[in-house]
Amino acid sequence: MLLQSKIRDFTQRDTRFFPLLRARLVTLKVIMKKFFIRTYGCQMNELDSEVMIGMLEKRGLERVTEEDEAELILFNTCSIRDLAERKVMGKIGQLKHQNKRAIIGVTGCMAMAKKEALFQKLPHIDFVLGTNNIHALDDVLDEVLAKKSQVIRTDKTFEQEIDYLAAKREDPVKAYVSIIRGCDKFCTYCVVPYTRGKEVSRLPEDIVEECKRLVQQGYKEVTLLGQNVNSYGKDKPEWNCLFHDLLYQLDRIPGLARVRFMTSHPVDITVQLMEAIRDLPSVCEFVHFPLQAGSNRILRKMHRIYTVEQYLEKVHLLREIVPNVSLGTDIIVGFPTETEEEFAETYRLFKEIKYSVAFLFAYSARKGTPAFRWKDDVPEEIKQERLQRLLSLYHEIAGEEKKEMLGQIVEVLVERRNRDERFLKGRTRCWKNVIFEGSDDLIGTLQLIKVTGYSHQTLIGQKA
Ligand code: SF4
Repeated sequence: MLLQSKIRDFTQRDTRFFPLLRARLVTLKVIMKKFFIRTYGCQMNELDSEVMIGMLEKRGLERVTEEDEAELILFNTCSIRDLAERKVMGKIGQLKHQNKRAIIGVTGCMAMAKKEALFQKLPHIDFVLGTNNIHALDDVLDEVLAKKSQVIRTDKTFEQEIDYLAAKREDPVKAYVSIIRGCDKFCTYCVVPYTRGKEVSRLPEDIVEECKRLVQQGYKEVTLLGQNVNSYGKDKPEWNCLFHDLLYQLDRIPGLARVRFMTSHPVDITVQLMEAIRDLPSVCEFVHFPLQAGSNRILRKMHRIYTVEQYLEKVHLLREIVPNVSLGTDIIVGFPTETEEEFAETYRLFKEIKYSVAFLFAYSARKGTPAFRWKDDVPEEIKQERLQRLLSLYHEIAGEEKKEMLGQIVEVLVERRNRDERFLKGRTRCWKNVIFEGSDDLIGTLQLIKVTGYSHQTLIGQKA
């Protein structure tokens, strides 16, 4: 509380130095009926937005799809890449002229990373709400309206539970469920430990209760979310419930057809987790297993706390225990000092492991991380050229994998109609997109589909 009041004092003091800002504050419109929210970044942000939408609707506000119609505009932001930040800053900047009457709030990772500096860069925004303060959205709005002053809440750690049961989910078939927030790993390129704070697991009984309610509402699939889900429970040894224990509890929920989880840190992928994937019918055989780099020197510099050999050993063990498992990965190319030979090591490892899903990035320095202090010395054109080479390999492997699936029968959870309206769209247990012809009543059901063809990103099939 002391910290919050200090911050508030600071922001109130600060406004005296911004005549333009003070002028805007006194003209704030106090009646809010409609809100607009834009979400950037990861699934964690999507879920946080769903929670905020639920809170605002409970408050009597109606969601609109056009910024111009709204009296409250929220930007739930991402800090993971420089480009994402610049896009949001530009968008919020435009609003100064576009919608002068709306109350504007910035939430999410950028709020945590930039804090009070956001008021200086964007003096027309009204509040900044950090990732650990989402529960306080109502209070913050009341405070903005009552005092007509800017408000900031950016607690370092997540201490107050969010009412996830009130989240307003858009997808009627699959839902995100938060199980742990924050990260203690401190990879040298990553802002998450600074924007989301230390790991805080959520009570297992609350997670089970939320999943039961979701099943009652008709959901068939949940994706357990966290920056590092397989660290679950380590911060609360007294609960005696680690990640694999939680999976066993969730598997007992009748009607919960599929459980997925993301994202994982290789170090925390245990044999018990591998066995749970093998033994529990609801747990899907897909593991996001982020490699990041294939060179031990770069891994050390990234502070990934595993070697290539240890990583490979786990991959082999996982494939031995769960032979039909698919693997996903994240890779960063052009990390500071990465040589051509070190990139070649990453390329070779990718080729050897044959990932089914890959998120590939060219390194961009993030302010506030240890790597930001190092020289970003791999020229941009070399980063892009390495990225393209890896992307071509990924597409080649993905094409071969799909070709091998021709004629196979796969289980698909039907999610919705495809954009072209002709096909239904769903995913296999291994996270592959599948389209096939069928009627709307199949949405939300599990179907056996025979793979008859494939395109760049999607399997094409027909009911088996
Ligand atoms: S484990 Fe993931 S979230 Fe945590 S610091 Fe590393 S990259 Fe960031």
